[in-house]
Amino acid sequence: DYEALAARGVQGLQPYQPGKPVDELARELGLDPARIVKLASNENPLGPSDRVTAAVEKALPEVTRYPDGAAYTLRQTLAERLNVAPEMLTFGNGSNDVLELVARAFAEPGAEIVYSEHAFAVYPIVIQAIGADHVKVPAVNWGHDLDAMAAAITERTRVVFVANPNNPTGTVVEKDAVYRFLQRVPENVIVVLDEAYCEYLQGPQYADGVQWLSEFPNLVVSRTFSKAWGLAGLRMGYGISSPEIADVINRVRQPFNANALAQAAATAVLDDQAYIDRAIEVNRAGLEQLAGGFDRLGLDYIPSAANFIALDTGTDANEVNDALLREGVIVRPVGAYGMPRHLRVSVGLEHENRRCLEALEKVLG
Ligand code: PMP
Repeated sequence: DYEALAARGVQGLQPYQPGKPVDELARELGLDPARIVKLASNENPLGPSDRVTAAVEKALPEVTRYPDGAAYTLRQTLAERLNVAPEMLTFGNGSNDVLELVARAFAEPGAEIVYSEHAFAVYPIVIQAIGADHVKVPAVNWGHDLDAMAAAITERTRVVFVANPNNPTGTVVEKDAVYRFLQRVPENVIVVLDEAYCEYLQGPQYADGVQWLSEFPNLVVSRTFSKAWGLAGLRMGYGISSPEIADVINRVRQPFNANALAQAAATAVLDDQAYIDRAIEVNRAGLEQLAGGFDRLGLDYIPSAANFIALDTGTDANEVNDALLREGVIVRPVGAYGMPRHLRVSVGLEHENRRCLEALEKVLG
């Protein structure tokens, strides 16, 4: 009975459910994979930057060697760009890796980790896997209630996760509220501001967390190359924190967790301002297209600041999802996030968004 032998936190743990792979659905439906539309994993629909393609080709002969465990070139490039010291960066195999590293480095079994209802699914998984205790704080209007989260901190709290914007709701906490929250959290509690989607935020009411690092030494900002930068498949994320916190995180990091192709690609794409500008513009237009389509279909949704929208199907979202799959459209049910009526639709290219809206009309109409 290996279930009984599993570590305490791992018993009964539900694994992360990724979107259905295109090839699998194509085979089930007997369709050409090119006919499938996948708007399920908040990916960048543009395909890679040309600079990434070139950088990966150039780095390919080096794959017989271990990558640079310290990610020297990427570290220097990124530190300059963010205007932080290089030793404030910690690299991960995607930012999921960074989130887990922070939890493992700071929370032992029995410690508490605070996060929000409807927040990113990886938080409860890493909390449970390390044997820490969940403190899930009820959301307000689908978003984080930072006052309630600050109030939920006890002597046992080691880490608080704040996703800003949040996945799968697309909600965002504005600058002043984040700042007030940081002021309320005691210095011995690590705040992880998960900014996986921060590149999409536009407007003076939003702020990224980097500017607060000098004022709040307990802050860790996590970022990723998976979304706006278009490198989800290569896996590259990073944390920005005080050098002291980075040093603690690095003690539990696997030595070669950030692979060579990802390091080369990330370094290259940071120089491609035109690519990121286009990604942000395509996303802005796509959000508008999807929201407009949902409005026309009379469907409710949560206004989103990210690259996806949580759509209220008004019914059991799994059934709508199954019907959409039969139309060759892959989106993501978010029942596991406590949202059984919602489907999360990632923003795609114009024709992909259109296919999704047509399929929704057929399925719900
Ligand atoms: N944080 C949030 C809020 C996310 O939605 C995601 C991606 N689903 C991640 C972190 C992790 O992304 P990655 O590991 O690809 O960097």
